[in-house]
Parts: sequence; structure tokens; C-alpha cells
Amino acid sequence: MRKIRWLIRRRRSKVVILTVVCIGLLFFLGKRSEYIKSGTYQAYSYTTLAMGTGIKKTIYSENAAKSEQVDSAIDACLKELENRISVRITNSEIASCNRSYAVDGVYPLSETVRSYLEQELQICEETDGAFSPCIRPISALWGIEEGETEIPEQSRIQEVLAHTRPENMELTEDGIIFRDNRMAIDLGAVGKGIACDEVNKVLAGYDVRGAVISIGGSIAVYGDKGKREAWHIGIQDPRGNENEMLGVLTAKKGMVISTSGDYEKYFMADGRRYHHIFDPATGYPADSGLISVTIISDSGFLSDALSTACFVLGLEKGMDYAVKKGVQAIFVTSGREVYVTKGLKHAFKLQADGYVLKESR
Ligand code: ADP
Ligand code: MG
Repeated sequence: MRKIRWLIRRRRSKVVILTVVCIGLLFFLGKRSEYIKSGTYQAYSYTTLAMGTGIKKTIYSENAAKSEQVDSAIDACLKELENRISVRITNSEIASCNRSYAVDGVYPLSETVRSYLEQELQICEETDGAFSPCIRPISALWGIEEGETEIPEQSRIQEVLAHTRPENMELTEDGIIFRDNRMAIDLGAVGKGIACDEVNKVLAGYDVRGAVISIGGSIAVYGDKGKREAWHIGIQDPRGNENEMLGVLTAKKGMVISTSGDYEKYFMADGRRYHHIFDPATGYPADSGLISVTIISDSGFLSDALSTACFVLGLEKGMDYAVKKGVQAIFVTSGREVYVTKGLKHAFKLQADGYVLKESR
């Protein structure tokens, strides 16, 4: 009996030793193949213009032929998206809707565009209208993105503001109804985030090892470079030039990092800065005390939408909202204080002089 127990024990210990050896071997082989593979991936970089902004693509792939193929596929995807959602392209779904809807009638929308608007309306409700899918008449009046440099008359702003009420817009099962004949929608606040989501699908379709795709204020980090390292992304100094960094963010793969700031598109008048993110309550550029908001999420749509929404909401309400939505955030105030969410405490390193990192919440 004792011998049998001893034999069982011996067998058990053999199994344990064998398991440990196997795990060790697997780990070693895994590391080795990772190491070998990292040598085979190269970075290929491309730039283009699309969606009214500069696009930078760095693709980690086995060879130039594959990365060029992926680059072309991304360009085609962005062109298609722009043709569908840009308010500036005459026959896009959005521009056609703005031009052709009949008051109180249902204007048909594709399921995709309808779902973007539905998500925007939800954010509009959650932010008490600080984020508005129908702010377009106000941004068109100011024309900041078109290069206008004059402040519109207060009376004109009031008049136009009356046509930006989300309660006068309703989504139906297959389209949209407007209750006012001078309303207009645009997806400007979410377009680049949506583009990141679409690009991620293209990258997955080509089985790309890794990529960093920067589309205006939104950056998608996909996969890795061959070794399983995190990505390091520079966040722009809102008061520096384009190449000056506020700090560096260590980002996990699959994340989209979107920044909205008052330094992107603006003009100066009477010593004040007039930028392209509007407060739907006033019709003037949002004056919330923030100069830059960065949102990190695995959804490009959410990161882009929330960067705009939180910019308008300001530090207190914006931080609460970001935390409630489960995203990570970096807020920069006009007093040059930098607030980060708890999850970024170790992931964000402030570099620029003149800023103070404040306790994360
Ligand atoms: P960018 O377009 O530079 O990436 P944002 O993501 O912050 O910047 O989006 C700004 C765009 O969003 C504006 O150009 C305008 O079309 C739209 N917009 C401005 N204010 C608001 C707002 N309060 N709610 C929703 N969209 C807005
Ligand atoms: Mg945005």
C-alpha cells in the first residue's frame, strides 16, 4: 500500500516537473519566435491628404509590397468615408441631407450614417447639449475652418442659434426628420475618430503586424512593431509649435487617441482666440477654461466625440463625464495645469516647460 502511494507521488512529481519544463520551453520558443519575427518587420511611412487634413501612416510589415498594398487600401477607405460623410462634399450623404430634406418629412439615411447620428444624439443628451450634432449652422456662420477671421454680429449669432436645437431633429427607423427648415448636421466632431475605426478594420483585413495612423487630431495605434512593446505617442503642446510636445503617452495597442484644442483652427481678434469648437448654449467658441483635451478609448468614435464634448464641458463636468464613459483623458487648462485620469498616472509623462501635472482623479 505504502509502495503504491510512493509510486503515485513519484509519478505526480514527474508530471509537475514535466509541466514546468514544457511551460519553460513554450515561453522560450515564444520569445525566440517573437525575437526572430521582430527582425522581419520593417516600418514603412506614407503621408496623404484626406478628410480635410494630413494623414500620416507608419505600417510595420514583412515587405514594401504588402505595406504599399495596405497604404492604398487605407487611402481608398478614407476616400470612400469622406465621400459619404463630409459636409463639404456636395453629394455626400450628409451634404445631400442638409440640402434636400423637407420639414417634417422623413429624409432616408443609410444605416451607417443613421447609427453615427444616433450615437451623437446620445452624447448630446448625456452632456445636456454641450455636444450637438446640429451645430453646423453656427460653424458655417463663423466659417473658421474656411479661413474667416471676423466675429459675426451678435444678432446674427442669436438668429442662427435658433436653428441649432437638437429637439427639432428626430431619428426614425430609417432616416431623420427636421422640424425646422434651416437646420443642418455634420459629423465634424467624430469624422476622424470614425476614420480610425475604419482604418483598424482595413489593417485587420490585411493581417498587418502593427501600425500608427494619424488622421488630424486622432491617432490609431494598431498591433505592435514585432516585439510586444507599447506605443509611445507624443501629445502636442497646445501653446507650442506643431513639433513641440506637451508629453509622451504610453498607449496600449488597439487604442485611439483624439485631441481637440483651441490651437488647431482659430483666429485672433482683440487679443482673444476664436476657435472652431463651439458652445451650443452661446453660439460662440467654447470658453470653458480648457485649451486641449485628449481622450483615449478603444473606440475611435468615442475618443473623438468625447474630446470635443469634454472641451465644451470644461474641467469639472468634462472629467466626470470622461470617467463615467470609462475612457482615459488628459485635460489642459488655460492656467497650464494638466489633469490626467487615474489610469494614465504612469502612462503619461509631462515634458513641456511651464505646465504643472495635477493630481489625477
Ligand atoms: P477636429 O475637427 O480638429 O479634429 P474636433 O474633433 O474637436 O476637431 O471637432 C471639431 C468640429 O466639430 C468642428 O469643426 C465642428 O464641425 C464640430 N463642432 C464644433 N463644436 C461642436 C459641438 N459643441 N458639438 C459637436 N460638434 C461640434
Ligand atoms: Mg472630436
